Order: sequence, then structure tokens, then C-alpha cells
Amino acid sequence: MGTVSEYFGSLVFDDRVMKANLPAKVYQTLRKTIDEGAQLDIGVANAVAEAMKDWAVAHGATHYTHWFQPLTGITAEKHDSFISPSPDGGVIMEFSGKELIKGEPDASSFPSGGLRATFEARGYTAWDPTSYAFIKGKTLCIPTAFCSYGGEALDKKTPLLRSMEALNRQALRILRLFGNQNVKCVRTSVGPEQEYFLITKEMYDKRPDLRYTGRTLFGAKSPKGQEMDDHYFGIIKPRVEAYMEELNEELWKLGVLAKTEHNEVAPAQHELAPIYTTTNIATDHNQLTMEIMQKVAAKHGLVCLLHEKPFAGVNGSGKHNNWSMATDTGVNLLSPGETPYENAQFLLFLCAVLKAVDDYQDLLRLSVATAGNDHRLGANEAPPAVVSVFLGDELNAVLEAIENDTPYSGTERTQMKLGVDVLPKFNRDTTDRNRTSPFAFTGNKFEFRMLGSSNSIACANIMLNGAVAESLKIYADRLEKADDFETMLHEMIRKTIKDHKRIIFNGNGYDEEWIKEATEKRGLLNYRTTPDCMPHLLDKKNVDMLTAHGIYSKAELESRCEIMLDNYCKTVLIEANTMVDMAKTQIAPAIEAYAGDVAKNAARKKALDPSIACSYECKLVQKLSDLTDRIAVKTDELEKALMAMHHIDGIIPQSEAIRDTVLVKMSELRLACDEAEILTAKQYWPYPSYGDMLFSV
Ligand code: ADP
Ligand code: MG
Repeated sequence: MGTVSEYFGSLVFDDRVMKANLPAKVYQTLRKTIDEGAQLDIGVANAVAEAMKDWAVAHGATHYTHWFQPLTGITAEKHDSFISPSPDGGVIMEFSGKELIKGEPDASSFPSGGLRATFEARGYTAWDPTSYAFIKGKTLCIPTAFCSYGGEALDKKTPLLRSMEALNRQALRILRLFGNQNVKCVRTSVGPEQEYFLITKEMYDKRPDLRYTGRTLFGAKSPKGQEMDDHYFGIIKPRVEAYMEELNEELWKLGVLAKTEHNEVAPAQHELAPIYTTTNIATDHNQLTMEIMQKVAAKHGLVCLLHEKPFAGVNGSGKHNNWSMATDTGVNLLSPGETPYENAQFLLFLCAVLKAVDDYQDLLRLSVATAGNDHRLGANEAPPAVVSVFLGDELNAVLEAIENDTPYSGTERTQMKLGVDVLPKFNRDTTDRNRTSPFAFTGNKFEFRMLGSSNSIACANIMLNGAVAESLKIYADRLEKADDFETMLHEMIRKTIKDHKRIIFNGNGYDEEWIKEATEKRGLLNYRTTPDCMPHLLDKKNVDMLTAHGIYSKAELESRCEIMLDNYCKTVLIEANTMVDMAKTQIAPAIEAYAGDVAKNAARKKALDPSIACSYECKLVQKLSDLTDRIAVKTDELEKALMAMHHIDGIIPQSEAIRDTVLVKMSELRLACDEAEILTAKQYWPYPSYGDMLFSV
């Protein structure tokens, strides 16, 4: 296959390929479109399409697809072949500019939350030239946005691009005020760290819960879990190593900058991190990564579990969204600078993030809310559902000094005067307290850690970009009118610290005490579940902000709220039905069979010699019978809760009923079954145990 640098990006129609395969004029026009969003005329599109097709066919592609990210699910694609009949009875391979720019997938099967009904029956996909086309299997994939004919976004990419544009607009205003005239654009960049579990296909196939829902709905704790930390520090096993090696190769061919991989805290848990890149590309790449992770696993006889909580009682999987803002001239706006002036600029951008996170805690929380992620956030696991920001002791001391006009007492005592003093160099805080924070400053970027492992990173970044754009807009509005820029700047930074310091928390996020302090003393939000937070998407302040920046229309927000809650309900209902099925058809019969055999043994022993006590058998049969009774009762109650759902109208009440009754009944049923598993001889139990699965690879 050659060296990595030879095959890296070999399946991507990237800048190198474009330059080599497009006429110079076409290339320049396309570059203008990519860099500056200039309109593309059909002549140029035709030339690009032709070159793209020739390149793809030369690499074995026979089909093309407009690849997009619907509101639920990973990605969607509908394959069309390039073939077109020729008069001589053969075929030629064709692909036009029109087909490149716009597609019309049959959209009726994608969730639209009422949008298409209100506006148009069908949607269309539109090429996103800023994200390179690539080949997957035998298909040329063209990254696209998906909209209704009325222009409403039916996907996650459209609002993501809009949010990046909003942030760019406002950040440029601020940079101009600081005298930066040559910066053309500000982009947000993201490096998402992806956690996952690997188990063998053999184990997976024996668990209907994993197959239907992605997580185990039953399963007693294994004698050994993650308590020794030996997995995290242990060497990567050969089979996992072979998997990671092929995964890297596949991702590299697709131009994904997969960089580090290691074991995670739980047994069978691992992590993959790419090098950061522009947010919309990082989002496309993360979707691709999740897909390729599952495909490569299948080739190795493994299954990659991307669910947030595949196993109760061991660590769940998340995604860390490392985020920053940078100029096209290469300046990271979240990096403390060398000069006093750069420092003031850094502090203003930092404050913009603090203000954004505090003002829009609810949007950040709901951007990561799914039925799966509810098992992590708000349960006794990191991070908590309360959003807070970790700055580290040093940066915190700087902010305190500014707020109180007192000398900064860090490594050296100096009076902090913005625009005059140089900031001290911050050492990156790598304490354990940092690791528990949902939103941590890590030297030159923020790390948002509440995302679930299966979430698209689009939603979190849309809200983050939007909220920060809003802070920047408020700052720019004031600064542009200020008589004295420096004074106003200092005042605004101070005011932000004063008003929003409640969001800063440098302690241990796992601590019970913190949740109490956060909610009772600081008034921070604590939305533990999806139904708790999702309706707040439509709160006036949120709708006002998101529409003002052109990120979502009101109708789009209403549709999203509906779709996310609907998805929550459906997910849990499938889980509940799977549980009922497993309990009735396999678990209860297994316990019965075992109890029956134990009773038969006891009877035989008694027949042999009536003086044999058989107290072990008697007690066991008693316990097992009690448990089957309890399982029957709990199954019945769960079924009743499910029936009751039919009589509830409206998605919000439905989601609340799921949270308050269905999920409660599910845990009760699970508890009874898990107790029975421990008492039942292994050969009777219909499913692999937690130990079998977690230590299968
Ligand atoms: P860790 O958090 O594991 O110590 P790093 O800090 O090196 O690792 O990086 C974690 C992730 O953050 C990587 O994906 C990296 O590319 C990304 N990252 C680093 N710098 C930035 C930045 N300026 N903007 C966005 N992401 C970044
Ligand atoms: Mg990290």
C-alpha cells in the first residue's frame, strides 16, 4: 500500500487532485467558491463534475451519492450510477454539473418535524464545496446540505454552516476594533475525541438488546469491572491493535487526520482522536469515522458499540469537543498572546465564551440531549448535567484580579491593567478536577465534554457558535460606539466577569456538594433528562438569539424540538418492547427451567433417602420462584405503562410519561432479572454475561 504519506487522502478529491485535474481557470473559480463562498456558474460546475467523475471512475467508483446528515441517524445516501446508455448499445459514464450541485432525494422518509408538510412536499440536497468529495466503496460521496424547497434546513449541516458564518461576522467586527484589518475570516475549529467499546461479534449476536437498541437492557455486574484501572494503562491487545491499524489506514485514505488511539477507563473501551480541523469538515469526518469504525470492526469479527451507555455500572462513552476560533492568518483567538494588546483581545474572546456558556447553558445542555446520553449526564457519572466552566487556578486568579482591581498574585505580583500588562504564561492545568468539568479551558481551546459518543457534533457546535456570536455582537455594538475604546473594553471585561463568574467552577464536578451549590446557591440549571431540557429550545430568549443570527428560523426550531423528543420517545419505546420480549420469551423460561431441574434433583434425592434435607435446593427454588413472580408482575406493569402511552397526546407529555413511568418500570424489571441471573446456573442463562462481553476481545 505504500507509506502513509503516499496513500493519505488517496480517496479524496482534495486540493491536490483539483489542482492537477482541473483547468487552471476552473480551479481558481472553484477555489474562490470554497474560500469566499462565491457563486459557482454551471459551466464551472460542469467542468468540476467531469473531472470528479473521471477521477472517481479511475479509482473504481461506479456510483455517486449526495451524502448528507439527516436530523436523526448517522448519514444518508442514495446511490445513482454514472452509467448512461450510448447509441451503440453500450454505456458511457456521465456526471453533470447539475447533478453535482443539486440532488433530489426522496425525502419523505427523513424526519422533518412537520416542516415539509408546512412548506413543500420534497427536499433537495445542495453541494457543500468546502468539504471535499470522497470515495467510499464504489461510490463517490458528495458532501451536501439538505433543505426543503422553501429553504428550511432538513439537516444538521445547514445550520452548522450558518452558525459558523454568524460567528465569523461578529468576530471580524471585534478584530477590526482591535485594528486587525487584514484578517479575512474567522473559523471555528474542532477536534472531537471519540470513545467506543469493542466486543466480539459472537457475543453481540447473542444479545437481542444490543442488536435492537445498541445497549444492554439486562445484565448483572461482572465480578471484575474497571476498578483496577488496569485497562486504561494496560497495553493494547493484539486483536484491538490490528483493528486500530486498519481503522487508521481506512480513515487516512479518506483524509481523516486520525492521530491518537488508546484504551479508555472501562474494559473493552477505547478512544480515537483526530487532529482538529474546520468545524464543518470535522463534523463530516466524525460522521465518517463512526461509520468506518463499525465497518472495520465487522471485518475483524468485532462490533463497535457507539452507544453512550452500552453497559450499566461501567463508564459510558462520550465525545470531547475541543473547540477554538482562529483567523485565516493563523491566529488562535483563544491563545494568550505575547503583547498586552493581544492579551486584551484574548481576554475579550475568553469572556465572550464565559458569557455565552452562562447565558445559554440550556442550549448547550439540550444540544447533547438524547435518550442514550441521559444515562451519563445526570446519572452518577461524568460529566454532570450542570454546565460549568473550568479555567484553572492561574487564569482564574487573573480574572479575579481584574474584577477586584487588585494585584494579580500568581507567580509574580503585578497589577493587571488591560492593554498595558502582559499576561503571565498559563501552564495547562491537568489536574483531576479539570477532567471532571463539562467545559474546560485547556490552554488554547475549550473542551466541551458533555457530548454523547453517538451524537453528531453538529448540534453542540451550532449552539456554541451561536451563543459566542451573540456575546461578540453585544461587545461589538458597544465598542463601536465607545468614545474611549480602552476604558470601555476594560469595563466590559470586568462586567462580564462580575455577571458570569457563577458559571466558573474549578472544583471537582463529581462532588454531590457541587450540584447542591450550583443549583441552590448559584442558580445554575440542572436538566437531568431530555424531556427536562428539550422544550427550552423554544424559550423566547433562545429563539430570539438563534433567529437573529440567521442560524435557525422559528419553524426550524419547532421542528427540531419535535423531532428530538420524538426520537427520545421512540428510542425508549423500542427498548421497553425489547425488554418485555426478552423477559417473557427467554429470561423467565430460563429461570423456570433451572428452578424446575433443581426441584427435580431435590425430589430425586428425597426419593433416594427422605432424610436428606435438600435445604440448598429448597431455598434456591423458593428464591427463583419469587423472582419469576416478580418478573411477571414487573413485565405486566411495564406493558401497562406502554399501553397507557397510546392515550397521551402531544410529544411533550409523551416524553414526560416515558421519563416518569416507562423508564421507571424498565429499571424495576431489570433489577429483578439481574438478581435472577446471579442465582441461575450459567448454562441455563440465555445471554452472555457482562464478564463474557467486557472481556471478550
Ligand atoms: P488531550 O486532551 O488528550 O490531552 P490534546 O490536547 O493534544 O489531547 O488534543 C485533544 C484534541 O484537541 C485533539 O483532537 C486536538 O487536535 C484538538 N485540538 C488541539 N488544539 C486545538 C485547537 N486550537 N482547536 C480545536 N481543537 C484543538
Ligand atoms: Mg480530552
